[in-house]
Amino acid sequence: MNIILLGPPGAGKGTQSARLVDHYGMRQLSTGDMLRAAVKAQTPVGIKAKEVMDRGELVSDEIVSDLIDAELAALDADTGVIFDGYPRTEAQAHSLDDLLAKHGRSLDHVIELDVDEDALVERITGRYTCAQCGAGYHDTFQQPATEGVCDKCGSTEFKRRPDDNEETVRTRMAEYRAKTAPILPVYESRGLVRRVDGMAAIEDVTNSLDAILG
Ligand code: ADP
Ligand code: AMP
Repeated sequence: MNIILLGPPGAGKGTQSARLVDHYGMRQLSTGDMLRAAVKAQTPVGIKAKEVMDRGELVSDEIVSDLIDAELAALDADTGVIFDGYPRTEAQAHSLDDLLAKHGRSLDHVIELDVDEDALVERITGRYTCAQCGAGYHDTFQQPATEGVCDKCGSTEFKRRPDDNEETVRTRMAEYRAKTAPILPVYESRGLVRRVDGMAAIEDVTNSLDAILG
């Protein structure tokens, strides 16, 4: 099973991917996570990407498609993939077709998380993750069971993304509208698109995904 989770920043792609990884043993391929790792490691790709990411713009199609190619090459053929945050442009959607063919895979579903844009700024500015294991939280919507302690690994250190501020979020939303939303009709014409209400509670969104995948 290979699926794309599509939706604007803050739609819940990362949150739901983590749950699908736990339930189905799928692999989450998040180009955002890969790029943040490259920035942290100060690789040539990371150095190139950092300023673009800080502005909330998209890094080059070639960089992200190369990252995905390398991940797919390293993955065992039986492991299903959740593409999270990729593809984000028409060129990336074409590259993904080529990469899937190259690695003997095909797309089962493109799941659009349908969200109200007004809610996204609050979701993104309240987002934080465990610095140790990367588990995702939110100041209001997804708090750890014990305040200040990660549910998954017990760490007490958390971090926030430098691009999760209101100004950058507006740019990221504009990029989504201009460059990413237009790839939906391409997948629609292939009959692959399933819409899920991303404004529902986290658990209910997971249930809707289970109904599609299960
Ligand atoms: P994306 O990966 O699409 O950018 P995230 O999964 O990181 O979005 O979600 C953004 C923030 O919103 C996170 O802090 C997460 O806890 C919270 N969140 C995710 N889904 C929901 C939901 N259905 N309702 C309320 N908050 C949510
Ligand atoms: P995300 O973690 O998906 O919110 O992505 C964070 C940032 O990484 C984006 O604002 C872009 O600058 C960059 N990025 C992530 N994925 C892509 C992609 N597929 N294409 C271009 N830029 C990307």
